[in-house]
Amino acid sequence: MLAPVVAVDGPAGSGKSSVCRGVASTLGLRYLDTGAMYRAMTWALLERGVDPDDAVAVAEAAPDVVIVSGTDPVDPTIHVGAVDVAGPIRGGDVTAAVSAVSAVPSVREQLVALQRAEVASAAAAGHGIVVEGRDITTVVLPDADLKVFVTADPSVRAARRAKQDAELGHPVADVQATEDALRSRDAKDSNRAASPLARAADAIVVDTTHMTLDEVIAHVCDLARGLPERT
Ligand code: C5P
Repeated sequence: MLAPVVAVDGPAGSGKSSVCRGVASTLGLRYLDTGAMYRAMTWALLERGVDPDDAVAVAEAAPDVVIVSGTDPVDPTIHVGAVDVAGPIRGGDVTAAVSAVSAVPSVREQLVALQRAEVASAAAAGHGIVVEGRDITTVVLPDADLKVFVTADPSVRAARRAKQDAELGHPVADVQATEDALRSRDAKDSNRAASPLARAADAIVVDTTHMTLDEVIAHVCDLARGLPERT
């Protein structure tokens, strides 16, 4: 298939981003990190002094936040207005607040519209796209050509996330504390009323616990290459 739409969901620290970027680069597709969009919204609201746990205040302030995603898998970018927020959105304050912000239904509507617009603009330019998040296979792109649910054991996800934090120069909690934080974020993301993290019945599960990154990328690329041509 020439320009496939690949939807990927999975819990925190499952390796989705690395897998999706690798797949998109290998297959010449665009790449959209919807988690970065929810993080950018959260960063912007914290900057404006909005309490992330005050859903009414979040819903009031969110429409004024302009989020711009760059979809080159080699150099994905994320801006709030003209401000490059790629670094700040990975900070602990944003990570701690993002699940509350992303549980607000009007925030989801705003960002889902943006996400679908990115997919449409890639298609209009003749490009396929890999889109990753929590509700991509279930809500945002239920008709995607390929739907994948990436997962891994919580302890393995925590170890990977702690390593990633160290590489990014962020303060590193011990692996047990990282695992506790991931489990708590997963629980919030899975139990919220609006578009919870869930596996679509027709998504292919890829458990990466015992796989290397290269193996996962190769596996998902094989799945995408095996897609039938659209008629
Ligand atoms: O993927 P990442 O861990 O960066 O996502 C950050 C947060 O954004 C998630 O914990 C979740 O609360 C939210 N999110 C979401 N829906 C998506 C992508 C991310 O609710 N499609």
